Amino acid sequence: MTDGYTVGGDVISWCTKCKLELGHTITAIVDNKPKKVKCNTCNGLHNYRSKPPEPGKTTIKRAGRKRKTPEEIYNEHITRLSGGEPAPARKYKTDDSFTVDELIDHPKFGVGVVTAIVKVNKVETLFKDGPRLLIQNQ
Ligand SMILES: [Zn+2]
Repeated sequence: MTDGYTVGGDVISWCTKCKLELGHTITAIVDNKPKKVKCNTCNGLHNYRSKPPEPGKTTIKRAGRKRKTPEEIYNEHITRLSGGEPAPARKYKTDDSFTVDELIDHPKFGVGVVTAIVKVNKVETLFKDGPRLLIQNQ
């Protein structure tokens, strides 16, 4: 026997536990090739792998779940609340009080959607360029 593998012989295999190419002891042979090997380093038994697993093959990509931009979220809110009609936004005044899902017409930032009441006197409002905290009840 000058070539081929023997059970109990050594072979370099990719270790699935050590994540390295290491010396392994062959424990099973199929078609003159190592089938099962035992890692000499961690003693782990696993299938023989001549190469490390290709990156990308084992990871399943999550399809179509990209992050939305503040503007996309903003547009979704506006469409949902106004039903495609021009939004009936209330003029923003610091002494007014606002509720969630209410549209605010801010003199500087434009029309925004109230997304949360942070405090009695603070509302989080989503504008086209992102969320902002606005004062209310003051
Ligand atoms: Zn190992």
